Amino acid sequence: MVALFGGIITNANLEHNDQEETNRCKNCKKCQEACPLKALENDYILNKDRCLSYILQNDSMPEEVKTVSENRIIDCEICQQVCPWNAKHIKQPLNTQMTLTFQKKIAAWEDFFTLTNLVKLTEHNYRKTLGHLNTGIPYSIFYRNVLMAMEHIQN
Ligand code: SF4
Ligand code: SF4
Repeated sequence: MVALFGGIITNANLEHNDQEETNRCKNCKKCQEACPLKALENDYILNKDRCLSYILQNDSMPEEVKTVSENRIIDCEICQQVCPWNAKHIKQPLNTQMTLTFQKKIAAWEDFFTLTNLVKLTEHNYRKTLGHLNTGIPYSIFYRNVLMAMEHIQN
């Protein structure tokens, strides 16, 4: 029930697809049930104003959100993790060059991505180190999220 939209601009002469997609969710509601802020209010409806991924990128941080964000700094994606359709790809990612490159990067980042390292990042180093991730999150908001996550760990 979560949809991510993207687009490709092309002048290729593509065949028109007029077949209706099968509903693969059937009676599953795992994403709705797992969402910590009940942002997936109804089938196929995402209330972005309640979505943690969106809120973590905003200036305003409601008290209710602080209690569920745990160690999340930039994103949430709990709904993606619980979706049965994603499970096999999480366990066994597609064997592509992009996957291999990304896996190497993750391995290299493993030691770096700790709250104690992140809280030490200056604005300059934040841009230099994480700028290529294109999160679009200003340093002040990133830093607030790191402090909030640290508070969670302490409590
Ligand atoms: S990203 Fe998190 S908060 Fe947003 S809909 Fe998914 S589970 Fe809910
Ligand atoms: S968890 Fe996946 S299969 Fe289940 S309802 Fe959500 S999107 Fe559909």
